[in-house]
Amino acid sequence: MTASLPPSRPRIPGSGLAKGLAVTLRTMTRRSHTAQYPEVQPELPPRSRGVIGLFEENCTVCMLCARECPDWCIYIDSHKETVPAAAPGGRERSRNVLDRFAIDFSLCMYCGICIEVCPFDALFWSPEFEYAETDIHELTHERDKLREWMWTVPEPPALDPRAEEPKELAAARKAVEKQAAAEAAARADSGTAEGGDAQ
Ligand code: SF4
Ligand code: SF4
Repeated sequence: MTASLPPSRPRIPGSGLAKGLAVTLRTMTRRSHTAQYPEVQPELPPRSRGVIGLFEENCTVCMLCARECPDWCIYIDSHKETVPAAAPGGRERSRNVLDRFAIDFSLCMYCGICIEVCPFDALFWSPEFEYAETDIHELTHERDKLREWMWTVPEPPALDPRAEEPKELAAARKAVEKQAAAEAAARADSGTAEGGDAQ
């Protein structure tokens, strides 16, 4: 058994043209609004994609952002360094040290993939957009400039009041509580020892 389609409404000749003209008329009679930039700064949403900031301390030079960038406009150079063993008899470790981190904003298409894929929260959107240049080479922002943009990154939105505490905060709070308890125990021990000596 086949399902029957609902009967289509009969088309009135010229209705499409009338609709189109109505839209044109509405647009013609609406007051135009001209943004007075640069005299008046635009009110942009705080999460606008203006420029990318680099929080270098979080970058482990994993290269994920550079590999995933569809425009290949992230340039990273690094070298390896040997870190001595933390304890005698331990093993030496090697770590990546960042030499260069640059983004070419003349190629970037502001897709945000690099920010999404960074596993260490080293890249952030800033709403700043006033960095036009007359020389295209100047649109390649090196690590110092990318770091400067970090000051313009807005604070993250507040958590929902009933949201679970972020694990980083929970870990930091536990560490502080543990340290405070250890200090209190040490003070109590020294107080007891002093009391014993006085007797
Ligand atoms: S926003 Fe997109 S195009 Fe721009 S650097 Fe990041 S991944 Fe590349
Ligand atoms: S993905 Fe993040 S941590 Fe990895 S190289 Fe890029 S910015 Fe650094």
